[in-house]
Amino acid sequence: MLYQRSSQLFAEAEKVIPGGVNSPVRAFKAVGGTPIFVKSAKGAYLYDEDGNRLIDYINSWGPMILGHAYEPVVQSIIEKAKLGMSFGMPTELETQIAVLAVSMVPNIDKIRFVNSGTEACMSAVRLARGFTKRDKIIKFSGCYHGHSDSFLIQAGSGAVTFGTPNSPGVTAGTAKDTLLAKYNDLGNVKELIEANKNEIAAIIIEPVAGNMGCIPPVKGFLEGLRELCTANGILLIFDEVMTGFRLARGGAQELLNINADIVCFGKVIGGGLPVGAFAARAEIMNYLAPLGPVYQAGTLSGNPLAMAAGLAMLQALDSDREIFKRLEEKTAYLGDGIERVLKANNVAFTINRVGSMISVHFDANPVTDFKTAGNGDNETFKKFFHGLVAEGVYIAPSAYETWFITDALTYEDLDFTINAIDKVSKTF
Ligand code: PLP
Repeated sequence: MLYQRSSQLFAEAEKVIPGGVNSPVRAFKAVGGTPIFVKSAKGAYLYDEDGNRLIDYINSWGPMILGHAYEPVVQSIIEKAKLGMSFGMPTELETQIAVLAVSMVPNIDKIRFVNSGTEACMSAVRLARGFTKRDKIIKFSGCYHGHSDSFLIQAGSGAVTFGTPNSPGVTAGTAKDTLLAKYNDLGNVKELIEANKNEIAAIIIEPVAGNMGCIPPVKGFLEGLRELCTANGILLIFDEVMTGFRLARGGAQELLNINADIVCFGKVIGGGLPVGAFAARAEIMNYLAPLGPVYQAGTLSGNPLAMAAGLAMLQALDSDREIFKRLEEKTAYLGDGIERVLKANNVAFTINRVGSMISVHFDANPVTDFKTAGNGDNETFKKFFHGLVAEGVYIAPSAYETWFITDALTYEDLDFTINAIDKVSKTF
């Protein structure tokens, strides 16, 4: 495949955009080479500026669960755009998507829309602090909750890929209120709670971690967190920016049968437009301005185009009772196929998978937390990544990322991908 035009475009971008990209994970720093510039995308495929077609396993890092340029979403955006782009006044559409989201997700009464997953998590933590009148939070190493200051402490994927888990610019004052725990280690959380009695407002967690590869919670871990939170007056925040409307209609809460106190959304909920949201029972949400004292706002929050895209997406997911089962089956098929060919080619690997999230780690030992996620062989990953691109398959340019399976993928696409992996892994 040729990447002449992508290289030229990247050189031009680098002159005016730091690193040539508007989000670091898009750069090829961890794998070498220059980013591929996209011209368009439809269904399961990306079409780049050099005319190459790639099967897409990133899907805009999650939102495109039904494939790119999904027709009902495209149509609803076009129709709404004709009626005006933004008003800064309430619209009926906001209530419609809120009603649908609240009906799909367990254990929430009210939802507030924002513009990104970062904003959702940042606002959820402020709300938890206001509600509990406590300052500290617990987050887990390798979990990413957006780029707000309090979260940039061992923050997984992008931050790890670039070797800056603790970003300069985050003050010591902010960092001191974020306590770090090990994912899947309940004892560690207990110790932190003991050492900070009545000071912890919230525990924030990706219920299925997706920013150090895909890491499922071990049995009893989330149940234990729930109990600890309830016993100690701590709010449990599920960051479902990745898992929400992806693992089940009601996200990880439904799949794993655990109730969180506050739930954060992003990605799928916006159908590909910039949307985030956070939700909780009324007692907590009523703490938000204008009803309550915790301030949170946004000029473009609830933007009509974004709400139209999100509503069309949620309606599609709500009306298709087989969708999450179908996605799971496709992901299992892919996982089994990858396992078969990597084994046949004597590659050391571990595959983690939950619903339509899957990750391949080049290490034979179980990958259960941030530390074990770091044991993968990055040199093999680089060959894997570039080999797959050459075969027409695009995965995230970092070993710390989950692949997102979309319903637009056919079994032929999956077979094509498995064959490509077979071919590439013979060259390791
Ligand atoms: N939370 C999780 C679990 C995420 O994966 C991400 C982004 O990847 C975020 C929060 C931040 O969302 P955004 O990039 O929309 O700000």
